[in-house]
Formats: sequence, structure tokens, C-alpha cells
Amino acid sequence: MIRIGHSTDVHRLEAGNRLIIGGVTIPHYKGSVGHSDGDCLLHTVCESLIGALSLGDLGKLFPDTSEEFRGINSSLLVQQVMKEVRQRGFRVVNIDSTIYLERPKLQQHISTMRENIAALLEIDVEYVSVKATTGEAVGIIGREEAIMTESVVLVTND
Ligand SMILES: [Zn+2]
Repeated sequence: MIRIGHSTDVHRLEAGNRLIIGGVTIPHYKGSVGHSDGDCLLHTVCESLIGALSLGDLGKLFPDTSEEFRGINSSLLVQQVMKEVRQRGFRVVNIDSTIYLERPKLQQHISTMRENIAALLEIDVEYVSVKATTGEAVGIIGREEAIMTESVVLVTND
């Protein structure tokens, strides 16, 4: 059987916060506000897997009221969800993600993000797609008020 999962996430951007995307710390004057490390991309990686297995959502598994998850490295959240994937006899086939961010340009960081996600999902990097686009200077993305990401993942138990 194959199952598909999808997720969208938005984080507010504020000066002085760290900008971590797909496990890569990107030098920038503002970063994402969040209970964890604010890694918007890893959150949708995580939550798309949660969706594929019908386990609820990221907030249900990792409540933002919990001290346990304050400032936590989002890679650890993905690892925890991958445990659930394996326990159910599933593995990841491929994942496709999009990052919506006005600035800075992410092109030079994409390959490291793909490698990080491939390692976390235990698949070859060729099955990990990460795309970046801007907000065309309009809306919350274009005004640099927020970062948004989307992920679609396919899992199988074959
Ligand atoms: Zn998030």
C-alpha cells in the first residue's frame, strides 16, 4: 500500500531570531519565531509524514505548551516521527517541498537541505526535492513578515 501526506506551515519572521531551514542555519538579519528552533521546512517534512499515517498533526504530537519541546532541534522531531513510520512497517518513497521566502536567496543552501532531509528520512537524496520561491514582493511573504513551507510525501509498506 502507498499513502500520501501533505503539510503547510507558516512562521513569523523577526529581527534577532535564527533562520534555520531544513537543518541549515542561514545568515540573515531576521529569523523565524517558534516554540522549537522554528525550522519551518522540517516541520512540514514531519507533519506530512504524520498526515500520511493519519496520526493527527504536529501540534498534537509535539505540543507547543510542552517545556520538552522548547527550542528543540526539529531534526529530533523528524527522527521521532520516522520511528512511528518504521513501527508501522512503512518507509518513505519520496518527498517534494517548497519554501516561500522573499529574502535571502536560498539557492546555495538547497543541496545541504536535501542531504539533511534524505538522511533523516533514510532515502537517497535523489528522492528529496526542495524548491524555493518568493512572494513577488506582495503579501506576508513578499513583505518579509513570514516564511511558509509546504511538503508532500509518499510512503509505502511494500
Ligand atoms: Zn512550524
